[in-house]
Amino acid sequence: MKKQSTNIEVKKNNRNYIFRYICRHGVVSNPDIAYAVKMSLPTVTQNTKELIERGLIEETGELESTGGRRAKALSVAANVKLAAGLDITKHHIGLLLTNLTGEILKYNRCFLPFADDPSYYHTVNERLEEFLDEASADREKILGIGISFPGIVDLDREMIVHSHILGVDSVPFSAVSRYFNYPCYFLNDANAGAYAEGIRSESMERFFYISLSNTVGGSIFYHHELIQGKGFRCGEVGHMTVVPDGDLCYCGKSGCLDAYCRASYLSDVTGGKLEQFFVKLGQGDKEIGKIWDKYTDYLAIALNNIHMILDCDIILGGYVGSYVEPHMQGIWEKVSERSTFTEESTFVKSCNYKIGAAALGAALRVIELFVEKI
Ligand SMILES: [Zn+2]
Repeated sequence: MKKQSTNIEVKKNNRNYIFRYICRHGVVSNPDIAYAVKMSLPTVTQNTKELIERGLIEETGELESTGGRRAKALSVAANVKLAAGLDITKHHIGLLLTNLTGEILKYNRCFLPFADDPSYYHTVNERLEEFLDEASADREKILGIGISFPGIVDLDREMIVHSHILGVDSVPFSAVSRYFNYPCYFLNDANAGAYAEGIRSESMERFFYISLSNTVGGSIFYHHELIQGKGFRCGEVGHMTVVPDGDLCYCGKSGCLDAYCRASYLSDVTGGKLEQFFVKLGQGDKEIGKIWDKYTDYLAIALNNIHMILDCDIILGGYVGSYVEPHMQGIWEKVSERSTFTEESTFVKSCNYKIGAAALGAALRVIELFVEKI
């Protein structure tokens, strides 16, 4: 029995590995795959045949030959399965549709203030269905909805334990999912952002993701997994003390990083418009420059502290992370000045996904749960 189950396990792992390879490389042939994943050609051919029969990959013509017979071109039937992403924040919702290859098919963000009552969730469901209509999404293909929530998301007890920003406590997943027509999967917002950055990347195996939105959060991504922590609070760097007895944080304590590095610290001076802040910063506005200087002083303290503990790359995400690219050199100089060790290259990077990262990450979690079972 044991030998048999091991064989089944090996077969499943091979199939999974081959499917992921095709996902990442677009159009490939059986010999290409066999060479790259170091499996025999008959093993690969058998697996791709099965995947074709299941409708998960398709033949898309022939590849150019380098001599001999032309090889069949294979690619993932990307839209055969879909997942929706829903990003819930205090004032907005983000909606996103993705497919098996993680392509963003549609994204929309709209103003909808959070309220802890049925009418809010009824409205969210209506907006989601309208959004899916506009995307001409075949409902039969939808695997589920990934929901990004700004709070402590306990995957063991299946509940949102606490969200200070939304003012809710002990919300079972079922109390939210019952308003939707598809299976729902929950992720903390910073975890969702990290997941979007890392899960489909070969080069980003481990990193810390700091989410610089209207609250500050963070997430540890390690060996292609999210590290959750004992109480699902791993990476909550927004409440690290950076100034003893400093400014008041929304959590009720003083001197937390959140009080100095939340996005609204910047956007408050440009009428709530963060984009405007960065336009003025780019134009060399002196007052704006001073605020940015103070912001990045505290950010550098946090980045250096995080790096001292984890010794890995740090990705700047969230609202601020999407504008920060032209200013990375200045941030890096402040961080490296603080660092005890001499660094060969920068470990601070700006995020790849500038819009909809949390919604994408939550949706990709749904896709990944499907792919794991292929
Ligand atoms: Zn705090």
